[in-house]
Amino acid sequence: MSTSAAPGDGKDGRDPAEEQGADRGRGQAEARPAARLGEGTRAVRAGLPEAQAYAPPLPGPALTSHFHLPGDPATAPYTYGRDTNPTWTLLERAVAELEAPGDAAARAVVFPSGMAAISAVLLGLLRPGETAVLPSDGYQSLSRLRERLEAFGVLVRAAPTARDAQLAALEEAGRPRLLWLETPSNPGLDVCDVRRLSAAAHARGALVAVDNTLATPLGQRPLELGADLAVASGTKALNGHGDVLLGYAVARDPALADRIADWRTAAGAILGPMEAWLAHRGLATLHLRVDRQQENALALAAALRERPGVSGVRYPGLPDDPAHPVAAAQMRRFGCVVSFVLPGREEAERFLAALRLVDDATSFGGVRSSAERRRRWGGDAVPEGFVRFSVGVEDPEDLIADVRRALDGALGTGRTAP
Ligand SMILES: *Cc1c(COP(=O)(O)O)cnc(C)c1O
Repeated sequence: MSTSAAPGDGKDGRDPAEEQGADRGRGQAEARPAARLGEGTRAVRAGLPEAQAYAPPLPGPALTSHFHLPGDPATAPYTYGRDTNPTWTLLERAVAELEAPGDAAARAVVFPSGMAAISAVLLGLLRPGETAVLPSDGYQSLSRLRERLEAFGVLVRAAPTARDAQLAALEEAGRPRLLWLETPSNPGLDVCDVRRLSAAAHARGALVAVDNTLATPLGQRPLELGADLAVASGTKALNGHGDVLLGYAVARDPALADRIADWRTAAGAILGPMEAWLAHRGLATLHLRVDRQQENALALAAALRERPGVSGVRYPGLPDDPAHPVAAAQMRRFGCVVSFVLPGREEAERFLAALRLVDDATSFGGVRSSAERRRRWGGDAVPEGFVRFSVGVEDPEDLIADVRRALDGALGTGRTAP
């Protein structure tokens, strides 16, 4: 499909990181060997240890609270289970390889949820009196964290994601410490220009963090677009099976990653080894899942567009979506979330109840499609009939037939009754 031909689309088999990664003038970091491989190949091998005779290719979870520890802990790789765990180490290598394939210095830190990762970045890096610029339309729990930040004396300015409105907020902030972006935004699916905003933030001495949850590292690589940190909820498409909560932060500067890891040790928000192992196991199919999800999402968005009674269809992969020009310039795949508006709350509830192949559930990115009436949570500025639809990996014709049938039930067939 022509709409999936974003620049740097990994389907050409080679990775632009090979050309751009280590030689962008940020340190002597050698390209990770995996950077020369195609995206699917990298996904199936991401973070695996060197092959060792008679050892498993992906070692099982290290279920332990402590490690044998003779002598000085300062030089020990593993000490206590709140500091480090070998199962995290492998997952952290995998995530860093996917987010920063050309950059051996980049380092990932994993957390038990996306919010734990976001909290570690915001609370671990910001000091009282410093200013952060946040999206006003970001993930709903971000605004709850904002209240905590302000209570600790951090100054916050917020602006919407669309049309790079955070540029003006940056300017008003003077010399902010941090710019936080979420692109595409959840649930509005607006997109901002990471390169442009990162350059503006760096000119003011600010760090830039991008919430990369919706795109996944196979959809977008914020560090290559100029951000300092890629942060995400791996609960969604990265894990993709709806059975693990997980978060991560990847920094280009290892000193920044160390500060975030220090926060993790101090605050104690740690990922269970079993969850870390499950998520790592699932990474091997990430490219297959996100490719199918994008294909299904485009087909669903196109079908919804044609349907009377459905309005406001948004998907950054649609060529005439307002977000498409910027999305196409910085994304490699456009994700699994399609949003649209039904006439009201009742129609949306009837639609969700009539679906047979789509769960009425929150979260997104899983192999099974799900959808919800987003306004039921109260946190997002969206209409009563706004539906956030997470497209799974089902056969597209089944999915679209189910949606059409449920819309017929909820809205009527569009033909006048005799
Ligand atoms: C879900 C989500 C989060 C929070 O992740 P959890 O794993 O639920 O803590 C953060 N950002 C975005 C964009 C999300 O969609």
